[in-house]
Amino acid sequence: FVKPTDAQFILDGIHHQFQLGPETMIELTRQFLEEFKVGLGNYNHPMAMIPTFVTGVPNGTETGTFLALDLGGTNMRVCEVVLHGDTTFTLRQQKYKVSDALKTGEATVLFDYLADSVDAFLTSHPPPSGHSNRDPFAEPTPDVVHLGLTFSFPVEQTALDSGKILTWTKGFSAKHAIGNDVVKLLQDAFDRKHMHVKCVALVNDTVGALLSRAYTAGGCMLGAIFGTGTNGAYVEDLSNIRKLANDPAGSRGGLMVVNTEWGAFNNSRSHLPSTPFDNALDRTSINPSFQAFEKMISGMYLGEVTRNILLSLVDAAPKSLLFGGKTTAALNAQWGFDTSVMSGVEEAWEGKDSKNSTGEKLEPEVKARLERVRAVLVKDLGFKDADVSLRDAAIVRWASSLVARRAALLSGLAVATVLIQTGRAVLSNQGGKPTKNEPKIGVGVDGSLIEFYPHFEETLRESLRILVGADVEKRVDIGMAKDGSGVGAALCALQAIKQL
Ligand code: ADP
Repeated sequence: FVKPTDAQFILDGIHHQFQLGPETMIELTRQFLEEFKVGLGNYNHPMAMIPTFVTGVPNGTETGTFLALDLGGTNMRVCEVVLHGDTTFTLRQQKYKVSDALKTGEATVLFDYLADSVDAFLTSHPPPSGHSNRDPFAEPTPDVVHLGLTFSFPVEQTALDSGKILTWTKGFSAKHAIGNDVVKLLQDAFDRKHMHVKCVALVNDTVGALLSRAYTAGGCMLGAIFGTGTNGAYVEDLSNIRKLANDPAGSRGGLMVVNTEWGAFNNSRSHLPSTPFDNALDRTSINPSFQAFEKMISGMYLGEVTRNILLSLVDAAPKSLLFGGKTTAALNAQWGFDTSVMSGVEEAWEGKDSKNSTGEKLEPEVKARLERVRAVLVKDLGFKDADVSLRDAAIVRWASSLVARRAALLSGLAVATVLIQTGRAVLSNQGGKPTKNEPKIGVGVDGSLIEFYPHFEETLRESLRILVGADVEKRVDIGMAKDGSGVGAALCALQAIKQL
């Protein structure tokens, strides 16, 4: 028998599972630092800590014209980037869809498609004459266009222009790619089509965010992505990258950008507080037990975790707690509830447009807020108006905010780990003092989640205050690395041709 209080008991139980207390967060950060250290010394750890062979960050004076190709998110992009040398740039770009058939088919078919897209771009956006010759250090073959590839998957990089694909993430699983050099796969496709394009640099989107933010802001120490997936790249002392100790690049001293691949934090899930809703997502994903941290954080997954909560409430026995037991095709389908719907629900709840004629924000009535949330659910999930009560709207908003808040707190944990690792902060309650005390700590970010999800950055900062204190948090300067992958790839291509 269900007593009247049992509904609340079920909701409270779910609420409780998604809470992250300060002690848990501090312990998780300690584990995060441990995994950083293991990854820096070892090539076979899920937290891959990949040396990128990028040995410095720009200061905004760089010049040149480059092509950039970006694969790894929801869309594939080809762009032409002109760096003006005064922290500004011009970018022309075209997006191309990558179908599921391409993502999961033969790698050569995928790379032929990439080459065809670059070809189509060059036809519709012909390069100015002397395209790559604008850089005074470059001596390219005439008519060869230099391209930087932003490839946002784990790669074991061996030079600026080569790297072996370690594993696919984010819904990709193209065959006969793992273990191969991604630059060679792309260059072979260009060569098969007799194109005058040379891929000179391989860069991760996080490295792109770091470099482009450094170019436009005059400095940056961390690039972080909170979009389809999540990852971060930061500037590390070469002496800490122990796995490069026997590599000529490692013995030089100085700095190198490390691509952390932090989405794989705690793949063993021994510490992350997984709920049954996370477990259901993981079990039915194409990469069970990989990318554990990413699955609690990023745009590809948050909607699915929330959908699992909502379905458990629809199916609650003996009496449904949501939508009168009804669902829709969207809600029934795996990945059918997109993270952008959660964002829409939160925006509807906040009522961003509810200002009076003088521009002053009005406090909307709860009922009016819930009406707006209901309208989002009707529009985006395909419900009939009559099937969604205001109580249902309140429950969906509650579930969305639980999942999103946990994601933003965990995101702060990754940023805090980099601050501690680089000596800019110490972990709360652990004693000691930071070795660096800069007035401004630059962090370049990219991704729809941090750009559009209401309060994401605010909650991330709350997490930083818990983990490293308010003094450090307020010096952290978080800025969007707009067009980071394109501009980052261009900056990396520039660094590469200087070395040719
Ligand atoms: P990518 O990381 O693929 O380059 P984005 O940064 O746009 O691209 O991230 C796309 C992801 O962000 C998708 O998983 C989508 O669900 C989510 N998303 C799209 N729009 C929003 C939004 N307004 N708020 C929150 N998440 C969003």
